[in-house]
Amino acid sequence: MSYRYKLFHLKDPYKLEGTDDLFVKAMKENCLYQYQHCPDYKRILDSFHFDINSLKTIDDLASLPFIPTLYFKHHELYSMSKKRMIVKATSSGTSSGIKSKIGFNAGSLLLAFAMVRKIFAYHHIWSLKPTHFIIFGYEPKRTNQTAISKTGYGFTFTAPPLSKDYAIRYIDGKYQVDLENIKNKLIKYSKGKAPVRTLGFPAYTYFLLRDMKEQGIFLKMPKGSMITIGGGWKQFYAEQIDKRAFYALVKEVLDIDEDHIIEFFGAVEHPILYTDCKAHHFHIPVYGRVIIRDVNTLKPVPNGQMGIINLLTPLVKSVPLLSICTDDIGILHDEKCACGLNTPYLEIVGRVGLSDIKTCTAGAEDLLKEMKI
Ligand SMILES: [Zn+2]
Repeated sequence: MSYRYKLFHLKDPYKLEGTDDLFVKAMKENCLYQYQHCPDYKRILDSFHFDINSLKTIDDLASLPFIPTLYFKHHELYSMSKKRMIVKATSSGTSSGIKSKIGFNAGSLLLAFAMVRKIFAYHHIWSLKPTHFIIFGYEPKRTNQTAISKTGYGFTFTAPPLSKDYAIRYIDGKYQVDLENIKNKLIKYSKGKAPVRTLGFPAYTYFLLRDMKEQGIFLKMPKGSMITIGGGWKQFYAEQIDKRAFYALVKEVLDIDEDHIIEFFGAVEHPILYTDCKAHHFHIPVYGRVIIRDVNTLKPVPNGQMGIINLLTPLVKSVPLLSICTDDIGILHDEKCACGLNTPYLEIVGRVGLSDIKTCTAGAEDLLKEMKI
């Protein structure tokens, strides 16, 4: 049995204590595989004179060379034949439209399912009650490979679906946002008994609820209804919309309490499912680790200090996603959380401004360019 398998089959997804050793062993095991099967990854490690055998303790992981997410937007790194990758996913893309393409092999997907099963169970997301699903995202289509559309579709299996409605529909050969349809569905479902679950970009959810409030539409959604959001608040950074204001708006317009609002965080380059707790904190599950790095020196900073978010996991075998560096700024908190979990939690503060970066993303991208990989 591989260490990776053991890690993803731990009983408790948030019992971080005592799992460091297994995590490091799983990382080392996968790192050796990537080194032997992905020539580009080998070149990256060699260029840093990195010795895989130096990975012994959790602190050693900080010295494992990380790859910026930006790098995956320009390069495809694979460690096995593309035929073995049964699911391909792309990131939602930046404003320039450049996307990361990541392929997942069957073994990695099975481990991901084991993770999702346990995380959803912990957060009481599985339900046997027939449910109406509303996805503030893309209607699935064969040509749409974005991870967010796949996640949205996957989410409709968390309870027996009575209906599935998508806010971004494929009409006349192109995707179009149709919030009016979603509004009418919410009004209709509020008169029934079956709970409603929504998932999707917070921005769309917010804009619809704001419009409904302006139009004087105030509903009482059936008991057990749940608002889940994923895909990030990135669209909100410029508008400075507070999460508290969002929760209040949900309560006001749909009469859904804050403890039935759940947020997910993840990235196609780091497919670990982060789910916020009752206090709306993203606790680190056993499957991943987070290192916060100083924006200028790239050295790890102590918990409580702000820096660039570096995400680590041994989940994926088909692509070297062991240690990736985002262009997001965050803080790892040690404070005791009201939800009762005592593992650290990640606060995502925002995205690095493109004009003032001298970040690991930009720096490492330049570095890799020089290496002509
Ligand atoms: Zn908590």
